[in-house]
Amino acid sequence: MKAFYAKTKEEVFNELNTSDRGLTNDEVKKRIEEYGFNEFKEKKTRTTFQKFMDQFKDFLVLILIGAAIISGFVGEVADSIIILLVVIINATLGVIQENKAEESLKALKKMAAPLAHVIRNGISLEIPVREIVPGDLVVLEAGRYVPADLRLIETSNLKIEESSLTGESVPVEKNDRALDSENIGIGDRKNMAFMSSMVTYGRGKGIVVATGMKTEIGKIADMLANVEEEQTPLQIKLEEAGKWMGIAALVICGIMFIVGILKGKELLEMFMTSISLAVAAIPEGLPAVVTIVLAVGVQKMIKRNAIIRKLPAVETLGCATVICSDKTGTLTQNKMTVKRIYTINGFADDITDAKKVIYISNLCNDTKIVDEDGKYKTIGDPTETALIDMAFSVGIDKRKLDEEYVRIEEIPFDSDRKLMTTFNKNGDKIEVNTKGAPDILLSRCKYVLDGDKIREITNEDLENIKNANEEMAKNALRVLAAGYKVVDKVEIESAENDLIFAGLIGMIDPPREEAKDAVHVCKTAGIKPVMITGDHKSTAIAIAKELGILNDESEAITGAELEKMSDDELFNNVKKYSVYARVSPEHKVRIVEAWKKNGQIVAMTGDGVNDAPALKTANIGAAMGITGTDVAKEAADMVLTDDNFATIVSAVEEGRTIYSNIKKSISYLLSCNIGEIVTLFVATLLGWAEPLLPIHILWVNLVTDSLPALALGMEAAEPGVMKQPPRDPDEGIFSKGAGFRILLQGIFIGVVTLIAYVYGVNYGKARGMSFDEYEILGRTMAFFTLSLSQLVHAFNNRYETKSVLVNGIFKNKYLNLAATASFIIQLIVLASPFLRNIFKVTLLNGEQIMVVAACSIAPLFAVEIAKFIRKQK
Ligand code: ATP
Repeated sequence: MKAFYAKTKEEVFNELNTSDRGLTNDEVKKRIEEYGFNEFKEKKTRTTFQKFMDQFKDFLVLILIGAAIISGFVGEVADSIIILLVVIINATLGVIQENKAEESLKALKKMAAPLAHVIRNGISLEIPVREIVPGDLVVLEAGRYVPADLRLIETSNLKIEESSLTGESVPVEKNDRALDSENIGIGDRKNMAFMSSMVTYGRGKGIVVATGMKTEIGKIADMLANVEEEQTPLQIKLEEAGKWMGIAALVICGIMFIVGILKGKELLEMFMTSISLAVAAIPEGLPAVVTIVLAVGVQKMIKRNAIIRKLPAVETLGCATVICSDKTGTLTQNKMTVKRIYTINGFADDITDAKKVIYISNLCNDTKIVDEDGKYKTIGDPTETALIDMAFSVGIDKRKLDEEYVRIEEIPFDSDRKLMTTFNKNGDKIEVNTKGAPDILLSRCKYVLDGDKIREITNEDLENIKNANEEMAKNALRVLAAGYKVVDKVEIESAENDLIFAGLIGMIDPPREEAKDAVHVCKTAGIKPVMITGDHKSTAIAIAKELGILNDESEAITGAELEKMSDDELFNNVKKYSVYARVSPEHKVRIVEAWKKNGQIVAMTGDGVNDAPALKTANIGAAMGITGTDVAKEAADMVLTDDNFATIVSAVEEGRTIYSNIKKSISYLLSCNIGEIVTLFVATLLGWAEPLLPIHILWVNLVTDSLPALALGMEAAEPGVMKQPPRDPDEGIFSKGAGFRILLQGIFIGVVTLIAYVYGVNYGKARGMSFDEYEILGRTMAFFTLSLSQLVHAFNNRYETKSVLVNGIFKNKYLNLAATASFIIQLIVLASPFLRNIFKVTLLNGEQIMVVAACSIAPLFAVEIAKFIRKQK
């Protein structure tokens, strides 16, 4: 059997039983059953049981299990059961957290999954790539990934980059001609397009010949370049910090053990105390809390139209200091309407006077027109659909024009050239129709259409046209120029030379309503908004002024001026400019680099194939969800599903909030751990019995603390988050005195716990209780003071430096719930004789309860006073 590349188009149609109208729906259903979905076999994921078992590989968990076994041996069965229970709860939490992270990753993958453009039943459709079947007719356009292996049946300047398969990064020119030899290497199969390679230029159509694992790329084993499981810088730092804390804990344990033995304590008792301390020192719940807070934050961002593709971006967003944004569609609505037409005889009062301009702009135009309930509907780029609407308004229908002037060749629009050209055959004449940016098109015009005469263009004409362009641009109109000529044969190289100037078209694209507010928010938040556009300088300035991005015209610069600057000059001056006009995508990279060298954290938007390098260079690359190409999305850290500038700003707000919430959870958990260490350490140094048993500490760390820590991670944005300057990315969680505050607060919790313990012991001694009795009383009071003071302390952590009263102490409903639940759990421990027995605690009388309550509430007052003093300073 011949390979597909050696077959003719008809042979391919026959073999795959399809046509140039594509498959029918019934056929598609059958083929999905026959061939399966167009996807790679996923690597096997671990089962829940495997994940559960993996939790026991942790060093700390092994220590705990050891402790449980030893406790069992020496007859402390209740202890060993509780420790095991806690270990199991911990492992379960770990599995839940892993599943949660996996789930949100899967959801993200699904959302980021690209669509493919196919033709079925003769109708153009966008479908998920996985639903493609052999025989499908696929349309390829610049910026798209090839969704399956295709035999091309139609191409127009189609270039495809196949480096994922061949390693060759120079795009290959494709055609649709059958090859006459067999055994041709992949790189030479010019009439084939392969899955996961990318279209860099032009367009084409192809019939799917292989899907999923049957494709060339599928054969190269498990190529799964997808959303990756990356850790954020904070997670990495925490993991590092965690290791150090573990080591520190072991050292402290060692010291305590020796001190204890020297003070004449029993070996076993000291062993258990050391275990308690190890447990106290290690914040077991921390990684889980951070992962869950991140996952929830990412979900929240999705609700605000930002899909995070790379997790570290969540943190970087909060540090952003510069946002470089495209204009069209991001800062403006991308709803274009033609306002004015200019010909060499002046602005047209009646646009039918400028028929040639209408013809050119409709022929050199890729808009698709479909009938919908008797009305026409346009599908395409808004700049182009506006031209179609204009023509319809005076009774000209592009579809009829296309029949009369058949398109035989084209040079697609690209934002580097800023021109588009088509060759249209009318009878035996071939017409070249070009539209594009006026400054560029004008430089290629030798003649001008004056009424119905063609004459050479004069300097005066050029002056007049430039003035008309300037006038429209100053009024925020986007201006296109139209030109044409008649040729004998199709010649791409010379097509755009010696054109006849026909006219200018000015269209309005109003700014987005919400963009103005978003720009304002940026400014109060210490973030510089920068507009980067392919449009004319005057148009850009007019819109930037309206949005508040620019105050003075000296802040605007063009791509041409930028080109004259050296990298050093740009580095020194980049802060001056807030508008870049008539730039090409490669200028974007220079702009990003200049800002980055100035120590700024840059977010950059992009949509086209050529934007990918800039998106990668920026600290936060944001691709457009609607108009963006697959290539741009793949290169980006985040995708804006509504293409909106305001979305970046809300993502920054969300990013700042997520970071500060994680910080709150961490501060909370660490100060609680420090409280426990202080309690045990002081007690050992003073030679007291144990104020807290290992199970108490485990219980508090893993049960009563976890819920409030999670709730702190759900805290709403602090009032005024966007009124503060961005966070310094080098600033750690513990800088600016935060570490010191955590330490002080921890010590305070330790002290109140010790007070409660001493009170209980003395209370018992004074009433002639036995050693065991008063120790149990002291421990009960310490246990409850520790857990309750930590619940109270959770409220302190809602704001790092602000009083909790500023915004209502009970405003975080998750925290209210969490604190209530933890409180009830503690009450149950106290109320149930069975649990009292296991936890080795006893009932408290009214006076003791008052003392526990007073000690527990004390951190709130202490921290409030500290915050107040700090504020005075
Ligand atoms: P932004 O970069 O903010 O999205 P933009 O959309 O104006 O701005 P480009 O799409 O690169 O940037 O367009 C640059 C210029 O090219 C436009 O100002 C216009 O003059 C011209 N242009 C845009 N679209 C077309 C098109 N489809 N055909 C011909 N010329 C076009």
